[in-house]
Amino acid sequence: MSRGPALFWFRRDLRLADNRALLEALESAGVSGVVPFFCADETLLRGAGPTRVGFLAETLDSLDSLLGGALVVRYGDPRVVLPALVKELGVTEVFATEEFTPAARDRDARVAQLLGDVPLRLIDSPYIVRPGSVFSQSHEPYKVFTPFRRVWDTFEIPEPLAPPSTPQWVSASTESLARMVELAGRAWPEYFGDIVELAPAPTPAAGERAAAQMLAEFAPRVDQYGTDRNIPSVPGTSQLSPHLRFGSIHPRQVVHSVLGDSDDRRVFVSEIAWREFYADVLFHNPHSSYDVLQPTMNHLPVDTDAKARERFRAWARGETGYPLVDAGMRQLLDTGWMHNRVRMVAASFLVKHLHLDWRWGAKWFMWRLLDGDVASNQHGWQWAAGTGTDAAPYHRVFNPTLQAERFDPDGAFVHQFIPELSGVAAPQCLQPGGGDGLLAPPNYVRPIIDAKTERDEALRRFALARETAANRG
Ligand SMILES: Cc1cc2nc3c(=O)[nH]c(=O)nc-3n(C[C@H](O)[C@H](O)[C@H](O)COP(=O)(O)OP(=O)(O)OC[C@H]3O[C@@H](n4cnc5c(N)ncnc54)[C@H](O)[C@@H]3O)c2cc1C
Repeated sequence: MSRGPALFWFRRDLRLADNRALLEALESAGVSGVVPFFCADETLLRGAGPTRVGFLAETLDSLDSLLGGALVVRYGDPRVVLPALVKELGVTEVFATEEFTPAARDRDARVAQLLGDVPLRLIDSPYIVRPGSVFSQSHEPYKVFTPFRRVWDTFEIPEPLAPPSTPQWVSASTESLARMVELAGRAWPEYFGDIVELAPAPTPAAGERAAAQMLAEFAPRVDQYGTDRNIPSVPGTSQLSPHLRFGSIHPRQVVHSVLGDSDDRRVFVSEIAWREFYADVLFHNPHSSYDVLQPTMNHLPVDTDAKARERFRAWARGETGYPLVDAGMRQLLDTGWMHNRVRMVAASFLVKHLHLDWRWGAKWFMWRLLDGDVASNQHGWQWAAGTGTDAAPYHRVFNPTLQAERFDPDGAFVHQFIPELSGVAAPQCLQPGGGDGLLAPPNYVRPIIDAKTERDEALRRFALARETAANRG
């Protein structure tokens, strides 16, 4: 009896180069060939913001070109679509790169069951070190980055592999990628209100070639990374995060392009390791995708009334009157990406100055970010909120004005995203409301809160949370 084709299920590995699971699929299938397949999961699309879905559709379009038009796209729940397609095409093996979010693990386990005799082979991962592989000497997973990093560093980083040289693709009827964008963002939380109507950001260059080009441009700049990475007005970071999110590049490829011994390179590789750390923490603590990692912080009172919702929307629109926060939030709206330093300041502001639930902010980031990723986003938020891994404890509150003075001293970043402040020089353009009294620019919003008062309020709530936790034992 002749053997059927293998099916390769593309997920977070939308590339041909250094795609180890794809190479294994091709090798295993031999002359029977491989069906390159993407399942457009309608539930995920409805809950994802249009900016990221637009980027995903472009990435798939570019992948399809590299596959010579062979990509098969089908819409629906993979638990239904995969078994049906396997039957339709007489597929004998399914391959995919392993995924690690709690939802993806559940889905894959169920798909494997439903495929029955046709094996689902999960190979490699979107990380250098597979989540769940780094342990302390006493075989405990880490909740603190620095010791995790030390052990992570001892793992070998394999050389990236070339794309398949003579792949044998098998195609089938396919559906339009444009439908993805139509389905995107149909389900959103009620507290978003009218901000959900804000236009999506334009889609940047997508796909494997665009990612390789960005990496080539960044590699010579890595030697300034240590200093430039904190200055939001200069292109000091790689901006590869959306590509890493969808796997149009693998972190192995990134790290191999910047290997070396300088401090700047080490700092850059550390940032890649943060991505791996958060995936590992999520792997061991699946609840941390929606719940606090530190149980004490469950008792932190947050505001949810009508005024809180209005404040949330002002924050999301970049209209708090705090220039660095507003510039960052508008960068997110305008480009779908936000500088890491400003993400930290904007997140801290939402939690500690507006007293809102970090999940509201995390949801908005996931809605707007091109790189929106459950592990990095939820834990980036929990870090800023003081509810997650190590570092910034709750009582450390970022001062948004001091952060602006330190990291945007000449106001270049603030001027780039807040046109109302264009006539206002630093340092006034870094002050709440664009400066006090007569200097306040007429078109820029007055501060919606007083930072000093709200900082004190945050500390009061923090003390209360600790007390409640202590009383409840
Ligand atoms: C509140 C908050 C939310 C965040 N949400 C996300 C998210 O949804 N998706 C996401 O990819 N990153 C997220 N980050 C981490 C970080 O801000 C971005 O990865 C980084 O800004 C991407 O820009 P870059 O590619 O130029 O980074 P570079 O500085 O060039 O770093 C290279 C890569 O390392 C990884 N990286 C860098 N910093 C971090 C970090 N602090 N945590 C985890 N990985 C990191 C990213 O994959 C990044 O592309 C968040 C951070 C915070 C504080």
